[in-house]
Amino acid sequence: MNIILLHRDLRMYDNPALFHGTNAEEALVVYVYDKKYWQGNGKSGFQLKFAMDCLGEVSNNLKNKNIPLHVFEGNYEELKNWIEVNFPKSVIYMNHFTDIGYYRNDTNVFKRFYADQKRIKIFENFGIQTKNFNRDAWSFDWQKIMTKPILSEIKTSTPWSPKNIKLNGFEEFSSKLNLNDQMTEYQIGGERKAFELMHSFLEERGSGYALKMSSPVEAEFACSRLSTHIAFGSISLKTVYQSLLEAIPNSSFKKDLYSFKKRLHWHCHFIQKLETEPELEFSSMHPMCDKLRGDGDNEIIEKWIKGETGFPFLDACMQFLKKKGWINFRMRAMIMSFASYNLWQPWQKTSPLLAQLFIDYEPGIHICQVQMQSGVTGINLPRIYSVIKQSKDQDPDASWIKSQLPQLNEFSADSIHNAELAEAYKEIICDPKASAKKARETIWSMRADKDFKKLAQDVYLKHGSRMKRRA
Ligand SMILES: Cc1cc2nc3c(=O)[nH]c(=O)nc-3n(C[C@H](O)[C@H](O)[C@H](O)COP(=O)(O)OP(=O)(O)OC[C@H]3O[C@@H](n4cnc5c(N)ncnc54)[C@H](O)[C@@H]3O)c2cc1C
Repeated sequence: MNIILLHRDLRMYDNPALFHGTNAEEALVVYVYDKKYWQGNGKSGFQLKFAMDCLGEVSNNLKNKNIPLHVFEGNYEELKNWIEVNFPKSVIYMNHFTDIGYYRNDTNVFKRFYADQKRIKIFENFGIQTKNFNRDAWSFDWQKIMTKPILSEIKTSTPWSPKNIKLNGFEEFSSKLNLNDQMTEYQIGGERKAFELMHSFLEERGSGYALKMSSPVEAEFACSRLSTHIAFGSISLKTVYQSLLEAIPNSSFKKDLYSFKKRLHWHCHFIQKLETEPELEFSSMHPMCDKLRGDGDNEIIEKWIKGETGFPFLDACMQFLKKKGWINFRMRAMIMSFASYNLWQPWQKTSPLLAQLFIDYEPGIHICQVQMQSGVTGINLPRIYSVIKQSKDQDPDASWIKSQLPQLNEFSADSIHNAELAEAYKEIICDPKASAKKARETIWSMRADKDFKKLAQDVYLKHGSRMKRRA
């Protein structure tokens, strides 16, 4: 008898654990809900809501195949005890995830227990090296994983209902959840939506993507918006990659699609770093960088995360993010750079607060990007974004800012960009030029140190991309 465990792989198509696990007369599909995991580093109710959209669809689709979905509430130790009492001869089927430390620690003990008894099968999910880590062979391995055949939808089963299962189904479980609905324009989850987005992007929306992705105004529609779906597995990365390869030859916007293709590699390149070095969740990639910023100032951090910095463009980005749970790459980088350089706050404190607002929170990407935008990797050139320059470049007439902060409707674009609004708006939280200058000098003087360079070389060997690129 097989037990299939679902986590962030909430789909019917190309789901190896579900595909292989249900290929048996007796198969039990279980979603594991651990309250503590959802309170972990960077996790939030917004993300849970998206996950529940996806799970609801999976539950309905499974029902059509005569397979009920069950929800186990508890951690993996409790799950193991439950399995051993009820199904002591079962075999576990699950996909691999690189996730926060809480999940890793919890599942490691569980996996070891079943591996010792040869009662577990773990399948690869993204293009990550989980064994035999070798940076030099990484791209080759990624390509090999991404071009494997797509698994079809699972077969319809003969109805089977084992006795003694005292687990809730999806409806009973989700009706008990108090889901956060503060995000007014929140992205809806589910496999159907994921496929719709992918097709509309590859066939139409992606035209102009490479240029439009930098602007918060255009990126919302010109970017694929698949990150949330990829993070919660409502579509597999392999499906996206192979559909892209199919679309390129006949596309009238090939250049844009090549730009998108690069990003699918980056997705796994970043997650690999956390997989290889889980300590990155709390420690800087370059060990000397943890000494840079002190304990942080909670009052400053609160103003930053609430979008009350006095810089209209940055505050508008935060309002937008709080409504939608998503913002484009350039704005994420600017928000983070502002906290780490201009406000000089430790990334370990700011990172989880920002992650909670991203519905697409993917710990490997988020934590490594946060570190990059904070100048603590040692292998990437520090880039300090100017909020004033970004404001002028991305929203010249300030109309987008006004749409997010209507209280500024009567002000000129210039005074908005330069945050010269006197008493009419919030006081600016820092001097943007002086704070950037100080940060640049501090970071570069540390990078000039002989020991810093030596350690940076070690970081490169472990984590550095072997391809020349800019992110
Ligand atoms: C501080 C910071 C935090 C971030 N946190 C996350 C996160 O938690 N989850 C997340 O998916 N992305 C994160 N990103 C990367 C990027 O901003 C998002 O992937 C992108 O904005 C998602 O929108 P999209 O799906 O429309 O992207 P598209 O531009 O359409 O890209 C397609 C896919 O490629 C991947 N991708 C795109 N850009 C990157 C990148 N720079 N690095 C790695 N993968 C990339 C994503 O899976 C994305 O869905 C972060 C970036 C920064 C600067």
